[in-house]
Amino acid sequence: MASPADHHDTAHHQQSNGKLILLLVFFCLTMLVCLSAAIFYDYQKKTISEAAQVNLTMLTNLKARQVGHWRHERIIHAQLLTANRDLLDSIALFIDQRTPDRANHIIQSLTPALSDSEDHAIVLTDASGLPILSVGDNINLKAHIDPEPLVTALDRHEVMFSKLFHVHSNATIHHHGHSHADVRTTHVHMNLIAPLYRHGDPAQEILGALIFIINPEHFLVPLMSSWPVPSPSAESVLVRKVDNKVLRLTPTRHAVSHEMLVSVKPPEGYETPGSRITEEKEGVFLGYDYRRVPVLASIKKVENSPWYLVAKIDKKEVMAPLFRIATIEAVTAIMFLAAASIMMMLWWRRQQALYQASYYQQQLQHQMLSQRFDNLTRFANDLVLLVDAQGQIIDANERALDTYGYPEDELKTFKLKDLCDLSQQECDLFWEQLKVEQGVRFETMQFRQDGSTFPVEINARWIDLDRGHLVQAIIRDISERKAAEDQLVHQAYHDPLTGLPNRLLISDRLKLAIAKARRHKTQAVLLLLDLDRFKNINDTLGHAVGDRILTTLAQRMQETLRDTDTVARFGGDEFLVLLEDIRELSDVVSLAQKLSDLVSQPVLIDGEEMCLTTSVGISVAPEDSIEVDKLIRFADTAMYRAKEKGRNNFQFYTPDMNAHAGRRLQLENNLRKALQRQEMVVYYQPQVEMDTGRIIGSEALLRWMHPEHGLISPNDFIPLAEETGVIEEIGAWALEQACQQTVAWQKNHPELKIAVNLSARQFRNENLVDDIEQILNKTGLAARHLEMELTESLLMEDVDVAIDLMNRLTKLGITLAIDDFGTGYSSLSHLNRFPIDKLKIDRSFVNSMSLDNSGIARTIITLGRTLGLSIIAEGVENNEQRQLLLQLGCPQAQGYYFSRPVHDNAFSEMLEKPTILPNS
Ligand code: C2E
Ligand code: CA
Ligand code: CA
Repeated sequence: MASPADHHDTAHHQQSNGKLILLLVFFCLTMLVCLSAAIFYDYQKKTISEAAQVNLTMLTNLKARQVGHWRHERIIHAQLLTANRDLLDSIALFIDQRTPDRANHIIQSLTPALSDSEDHAIVLTDASGLPILSVGDNINLKAHIDPEPLVTALDRHEVMFSKLFHVHSNATIHHHGHSHADVRTTHVHMNLIAPLYRHGDPAQEILGALIFIINPEHFLVPLMSSWPVPSPSAESVLVRKVDNKVLRLTPTRHAVSHEMLVSVKPPEGYETPGSRITEEKEGVFLGYDYRRVPVLASIKKVENSPWYLVAKIDKKEVMAPLFRIATIEAVTAIMFLAAASIMMMLWWRRQQALYQASYYQQQLQHQMLSQRFDNLTRFANDLVLLVDAQGQIIDANERALDTYGYPEDELKTFKLKDLCDLSQQECDLFWEQLKVEQGVRFETMQFRQDGSTFPVEINARWIDLDRGHLVQAIIRDISERKAAEDQLVHQAYHDPLTGLPNRLLISDRLKLAIAKARRHKTQAVLLLLDLDRFKNINDTLGHAVGDRILTTLAQRMQETLRDTDTVARFGGDEFLVLLEDIRELSDVVSLAQKLSDLVSQPVLIDGEEMCLTTSVGISVAPEDSIEVDKLIRFADTAMYRAKEKGRNNFQFYTPDMNAHAGRRLQLENNLRKALQRQEMVVYYQPQVEMDTGRIIGSEALLRWMHPEHGLISPNDFIPLAEETGVIEEIGAWALEQACQQTVAWQKNHPELKIAVNLSARQFRNENLVDDIEQILNKTGLAARHLEMELTESLLMEDVDVAIDLMNRLTKLGITLAIDDFGTGYSSLSHLNRFPIDKLKIDRSFVNSMSLDNSGIARTIITLGRTLGLSIIAEGVENNEQRQLLLQLGCPQAQGYYFSRPVHDNAFSEMLEKPTILPNS
């Protein structure tokens, strides 16, 4: 059986396993979310930067075209002006003669050109670049003219733009009549320089130049600083390549200095718009700007000009939406993971709770089961052990602990077989059987702690639990039963009077002894001792004295003999002695002598010395025979020879001692002569009315007054008489005797009846009916006063013949009784076919009757009454039996309580009494 701790461990294991799986799932989920976020991010990054590049390129192209248009317009405008002959001529004249008229003329020509432009002023210079005239705003010319491009333009004879430059001016602002002096303002300016040639022919000499003071704030600066959407970092700049440097034409948004000409040599590994422009590369790229900040930049050359337009935006700004997306993604992912983990945790908790619940449920069930086992077995009267599949004891009830005497803890260290007196082989067999048959029952001996043993019956069976199988062994202490059985066995094999082995036991032992003798080539010797004239003692001194003598002699013999020898009581006054392992017959002779002497020693009874002698017959195996029966018979024959030889001696059997010449023949001869010698006597036992004790009749019982053996019981000689046929003679004699005697008694007691026993042999005699009729006639007894007793077995031999005969008998007028009823095997179905009048309840049933168990007697009485038969009980020996039988409805009886069978004289005396109840 798994302990709860084991169970818990497993649970723990399962739990941690579950946790691991959960963690794994969570990890995978996280990875998945991160991966998808990364892919999404990557994709977004690409699209965003691609979109930004496209946008930037479009913007750059657009602005470059606008700048191109503007430039073209400005140049065309300037060229138109410089190609004006009239103006040129005026200028040429003015340069020669600087008269106000000529100046005015020029001014009148220039002013319209100014009005529709974004210019502050137009300045006319001479060929050396000195301003000689201007129209437009009244400006400080020196400050507003960039000399360098002027020189270049004059030098190269081409239209040129200057860079943007700043002009600081101190303006006096008038405000509500007050004057606030010196407000410093800053403007940006740009010059467009168009050289003037005589007659407008560039091949002619240079007259001077027209300088357009352009206010870039009107177009260029707004264009450059404008951006389709508000942006914190985006800017576009116009630049011009000068050798390997780049000149900024428009201001930068983040410029630290106003330096317009910047070094474009980028640091190692950097690419800047400037560096690309020096290499005259256009297009969009990722690089760094003048601040060394990563930017996405686009370069476009302005058509037909040395100008480049650079538009750029901080990479950070471009990627700002990506960051937003990333942030949103991250937040979403985190929220998702958080939600997932919370859900998983909740789910896990729930699983945990469910598992816990089921675990406790199991625990509870287990407890309930063991409690039930406890209750069932704790106080059981049998010993109960709970044993695991290996036979290890794991539980025991109180009764078991008491009985074995071990403390509980110690008992549990044993296996079941340790307590049993079984061999390993037997144990295995038992275990095998148990496996196949679910349950076994067997008997064995068990050990207690003190080493003593006791017999048990073990009843073992499997019990199934949810976790494996156990064996429940119910062990019953069968000491009492065993003792009773032993007692029975002892009784069956021993003589109750002397306690010696009986005929049965010695026969068994003789059989073994014969086999052993044959094996070992030794001899087994049988001695049959018959006490001489013992019947005399019995008859004269009574059975009690006889019994005491027998007991004493038995004891003496037992003490004298070896342990290996057996002495048994064989019959009334006969003993059998078995000597085993005999090699010399001389040993037997001395022992036979010794036994004879032993018997001869006087027995002291009530102060009187009794002297006995014995005759011994001896047979030897295997010489005489190897059959038990024969050996006994031969010893018997030898014993009779010893008797014939004058008693008090012993004789070895010799084959010439014919068995028939022995005892049987002697007895038979004696029996035949007994009638003539008038040794036969009829005794009478009264049959009484039990409540009053009045004699109503008698049963005639034969006695043989043997001159030598004394009074011999009919049990001893009637079987022989039957066998030899002498019974017919004796029976007839007894019948006549009884009838005659009854007729005599009837003088005073006219209704007195007589019951006479009929033997099987007589019953089968064809002349029976005639013979009886004759006797009745001869003696003069009325037939109705005669009752013949038949035994059951006699009737059952051939039912129809028996019925026929019985019918003939009853026709005579006599009545029929069934003797010893209940001991035979009468078929009850036939009972009512027999013409019988009476059932005689056998002595054994009367004897075994008690207050709470009237048993068979009651049944027979009921049966008899049902069939309308009279009932008489035999063998009533005490008043209790009498009372009980009366209660049961049996009115008549015979038995020692009223009287033993007695001589006719004694019976006559009894007849004169009104009652023979002992108390009255
Ligand atoms: P049974 O016919 O059953 O005779 C009754 C036996 O019971 C008699 O034994 C009698 O002495 C004995 N008895 C009567 N009352 C008591 C009692 O209270 N206690 C005890 N212990 N015994 C009691 P018995 O006289 O030794 O006769 C033995 C058997 O011999 C008879 O049994 C019967 O079967 C047979 N027998 C006797 N006489 C004759 C006879 O003339 N002819 C035939 N064929 N058989 C006879
Ligand atoms: Ca009888
Ligand atoms: Ca009887």
